[in-house]
Amino acid sequence: MSDRGTRDIVLKGSAAGETVRALAAVTTGVVEEARRRHGTLPTATAALGRALTAGLLLGGTMKDEERLSLEFAGNGPLRRVMITTTGTGQVRGYVARPATHLPPRNGKLDVGGAIGKGLLCVIRTQPWNKEPYRSIMQLVSGEIANDVAHYLTASEQIPSAVGLGVFVEREGGVSAAGGFLVQVLSGASEEMIGLVERNVARLPPVTTLIREGAGPPEILAAVLAGLDVRALAEEPVRFACPCTRERVYGALLLLGPEELQDMITREGQAEVTCEFCAERYVVDRDQLTMLLVEPRGSA
Ligand SMILES: [Zn+2]
Repeated sequence: MSDRGTRDIVLKGSAAGETVRALAAVTTGVVEEARRRHGTLPTATAALGRALTAGLLLGGTMKDEERLSLEFAGNGPLRRVMITTTGTGQVRGYVARPATHLPPRNGKLDVGGAIGKGLLCVIRTQPWNKEPYRSIMQLVSGEIANDVAHYLTASEQIPSAVGLGVFVEREGGVSAAGGFLVQVLSGASEEMIGLVERNVARLPPVTTLIREGAGPPEILAAVLAGLDVRALAEEPVRFACPCTRERVYGALLLLGPEELQDMITREGQAEVTCEFCAERYVVDRDQLTMLLVEPRGSA
């Protein structure tokens, strides 16, 4: 595993006697790795990067064993953005059409245009609940940040503001990515709420801050300016996918013996690409035969 993403961090803080919760993230390595794996063009890179960052920020509010997925499905050319994340800072994701790129709108990558009108589907899996928690909402703009803020405010009933940014260089690489999430919990005074709202409204784009050298502490300080900030915890985050060769064998076994025999006869091998991380697995003739002979064997 490369250490490309080790400088990526989510910082969790609170203020105003814990009635305001805020998280700030720098995710440049995560987003660049996602871009490289999926070969996304700039608008698709921005959409995927914003969704990955949103996932990591939400992950920062979750318990370790929780899982979360965000799916943005729209009628735009990108069709779909899907990410899943853990409460321990691991995220993965993909877009349906990585080659999506639109002319910029108001000088920004047109993520809203790429996703279009559609739905945000959120699934939270908590091991202590038998059923996963599902929520489906209309997209507000398809720009990701306000869609996630709307979900948190309307569905989880926690008034929230979200800022997300991905800066794509002319040659296509990601040079800055990050974001923040600020939430007003019960007991917060009107004065505190007003202060946070004014901070958020005044904030320059997150990528401007990061490109000027700001890290999560500086972003958090800007979001919570004028409040007594208490930094609680710092969590390293990374792009990570749990797919393995063994899982690929498991998926092939599900096809059944006839299909496997057919693959051996016709192709001489099987090729499986993980949708989430684009890792490519080639299963050769010998391995396929082994699956046929000993379907429950440890490969
Ligand atoms: Zn994978």
